[in-house]
Amino acid sequence: MTKIKKIAVFTSGGDAPGMNAAVRAVVRTASYHNLEAFGIYRGYEGMIDGRIKPIAARDVGNIIQRGGTILKTARSMRFKTPEGRKQAYENLKEAGIDALVAIGGDGTFTGAQVFSQEYNIPIVGLPGTIDNDIYGTDYTIGFDTAINTAIEAVDKIRDTADSHSRLFFVEVMGRHSGYIALHTGIGSGAGCIFLPEYDTPLDELVDVLKKANDRDKMFNMVIVAEGNRSGNAMEIANRLNEKYDGYESKVTILGHMQRGGAPSCRDRVLASRLGYHAIEVLLKGESNVALGIINDELCLTPFQEAISQAKKPKSSMLEMARILSM
Ligand code: ATP
Repeated sequence: MTKIKKIAVFTSGGDAPGMNAAVRAVVRTASYHNLEAFGIYRGYEGMIDGRIKPIAARDVGNIIQRGGTILKTARSMRFKTPEGRKQAYENLKEAGIDALVAIGGDGTFTGAQVFSQEYNIPIVGLPGTIDNDIYGTDYTIGFDTAINTAIEAVDKIRDTADSHSRLFFVEVMGRHSGYIALHTGIGSGAGCIFLPEYDTPLDELVDVLKKANDRDKMFNMVIVAEGNRSGNAMEIANRLNEKYDGYESKVTILGHMQRGGAPSCRDRVLASRLGYHAIEVLLKGESNVALGIINDELCLTPFQEAISQAKKPKSSMLEMARILSM
């Protein structure tokens, strides 16, 4: 056991539903082990500004069901500079912080890796991002909620697509990662799915639509990840209209609604498990590792590996989606 007495937790990068459940678990497990817990407000930016405040077990009551993050979050350019990180370290020292729990995406882990190389402070990372694009865990905190939010929206749009015999393009989040689009596409029975990781030629979409038409399928849904290789949903819809006029097409961009809302039960449980284990592994002397759950078991991945290894959806799932949407 190490001599950690004061730990600080922060959320960083894009907010994700379930971050609050993770903060709650970190603070309460710290309290169970008689550690003093601190919250750092606004991620690395707040670390530089010295926004470090004690946070007690009762302070995290009534937050497990809330979306967003009570600790707030930020994208900090200053933390990317040695001066910014020096200031952050001095603030942590002044507050007597012995260890950190960072909740965020791969940018957050990159920052933690750089920081831990420069300053000798143990850090563990929890994967908090709706994108599910972090290596070393089957799922990230927030992903399950985001896909359920997207599916709910697509189901509603489908009613109109069906009633009016229209083709709807629905653009979901995912600049670099197609997990949200793939899962939303499979879950909504979409005719075609566009991902950042794989090419989907426009002719393939035309083919799907023609075959659907031949079978008297009068409507169709296409799910488009915002960062896919063929352009945004509007561009794809416009290009399709030039090639094929079998449908009247409409475009909906779901946008930030996918990031908000009460976390699903699955996200709350995942966040609780990871938050709990964050303290346990810090007390065992672990450092500079990202925590994840793989096959229902806790998994520790060094930051360096977590940020350098790509995680992408299986192409076989895309193939399956094609077959099932006929
Ligand atoms: P999301 O997946 O939701 O975008 P993220 O954690 O990847 O979350 P980023 O904005 O990429 O979000 O990263 C969060 C913060 O981590 C950045 O704003 C920056 O302060 C810090 N960070 C990222 N890369 C570095 C780096 N190379 N050096 C130092 N700090 C970094």
